[in-house]
Amino acid sequence: MTTARLGYAVPDTLTEASAFLREHAGRAEVVAGGTDVLVRLRRRGWRGPDDDPHWLVDISRIPGLSGVTSDCGVIRIGALTTHVEIARSPIIQKGAPLLAEACASVGSPQIRARGTIGGNVMNASPAADTIPALVALSARARLSDVSGTRDIPITDLFGEPYENRALPGEILTEVYFDALPPACGCAFVKLGRREALAIARMSCAAVIERDRAGRVERAAIAPGACLPMPARLPSAEAILLDRLPDERVVAAAAREAAEEMVRRTGVRWSTEYKEPAFEAITRRALWKALGVDAE
Ligand SMILES: Cc1cc2nc3c(=O)[nH]c(=O)nc-3n(C[C@H](O)[C@H](O)[C@H](O)COP(=O)(O)OP(=O)(O)OC[C@H]3O[C@@H](n4cnc5c(N)ncnc54)[C@H](O)[C@@H]3O)c2cc1C
Repeated sequence: MTTARLGYAVPDTLTEASAFLREHAGRAEVVAGGTDVLVRLRRRGWRGPDDDPHWLVDISRIPGLSGVTSDCGVIRIGALTTHVEIARSPIIQKGAPLLAEACASVGSPQIRARGTIGGNVMNASPAADTIPALVALSARARLSDVSGTRDIPITDLFGEPYENRALPGEILTEVYFDALPPACGCAFVKLGRREALAIARMSCAAVIERDRAGRVERAAIAPGACLPMPARLPSAEAILLDRLPDERVVAAAAREAAEEMVRRTGVRWSTEYKEPAFEAITRRALWKALGVDAE
């Protein structure tokens, strides 16, 4: 007979947590804020033999996994840092305002107070709000297990939707990236179903830096909820590079971003809606990153 049975482990250290996850590989998962895990468990339940429970490994009491720091131009965010902490962090507001915007747009005040950036990233939902912002910032992820740590580009963390590429026993400890220079513009624009509790239908994160003559010397465009895997859109970014971003150039880049999205996903029933909608939010994100609010 199979019954729903859960075990709950609360390790005190990363090594303990990682060893436990390895020992129970396939039958244990990390829980941080629980806002994704608990919804999933309620929806799907857990079925397993009575004497072999599915374990939730609560990492919330492990010290050193929370907070935002900045050192030598590098911003580090602990995996357990909540969305509200990130949105309110002066370091993030100054050095990565698009990430502050992304975290401020997550769910409701309760979800932002409980949900963590580590959970948002490791849940690997195509609609996760922090992921496009982190991709546009070229963030890296630090993973730890009993044998040590490894750092990888954030984009290498994702496989299929809702699947991360961490190895058994690995725990995300932080994400980090270079702070944006003061003159660099950025934006996160989200299109949701409703004002509150809206999981993004699609979003766009953009970073634009210009030289003294006003020409674009750095451009990053990262869509959310549009591609099977998080990525930037280099063909659209290339339209901006070395150019003065006037109306024609911005419109062409937004058009190319939408066309690139369709090339990568193929034409689907939703393309008729998604293509022009993504073009519009990309255009808005680009103008916002250029300092023009085109709401
Ligand atoms: C009503 C509602 C509204 C929501 N709205 C939004 C929204 O607008 N935008 C959005 O992006 N998300 C939204 N979410 C999803 C969710 O709140 C976020 O993804 C949140 O950041 C998850 O963080 P958590 O700490 O609760 O993760 P958990 O639920 O604890 O974990 C999520 C997943 O990540 C894994 N995990 C967590 N931390 C680590 C770690 N450090 N190392 C390894 N694996 C880890 C867990 O094993 C699990 O698979 C919403 C959820 C709800 C219930």
